[in-house]
Amino acid sequence: MGLGIPLLLLTLYLGYRMYLNHHRPITEVSTITNRRPSTRIAGLDGATIESYPKTQLGESWELPVPNDNICPICLCEYQPKEVLRTIPECNHYFHANCVDEWLRRNATCPLCRHLRER
Ligand SMILES: [Zn+2]
Ligand SMILES: [Zn+2]
Repeated sequence: MGLGIPLLLLTLYLGYRMYLNHHRPITEVSTITNRRPSTRIAGLDGATIESYPKTQLGESWELPVPNDNICPICLCEYQPKEVLRTIPECNHYFHANCVDEWLRRNATCPLCRHLRER
């Protein structure tokens, strides 16, 4: 068995792919990227999440933005002694537990969906 036939098939396949790329309408591109395998997780790894600054709330705690004392993920009020994590890109903050869970599955801030460049 020589390499002739596999090589020919590869050439045909690549040619076909180029043909598809060339002729695919732009509107289809988004559906293609959404069709990634579900096993692939688009979130951040633990080390990246850990590198985001954490704030432990004291008994008399002050938030960077007054009157913004509800975690947008679980919709619970922040309580003393709870640990918050801030997303450096946009300075949004959440319960560390809530946002860690979120960031493992999504690389974007839940509030502004700011796409993190990796
Ligand atoms: Zn929360
Ligand atoms: Zn944000």
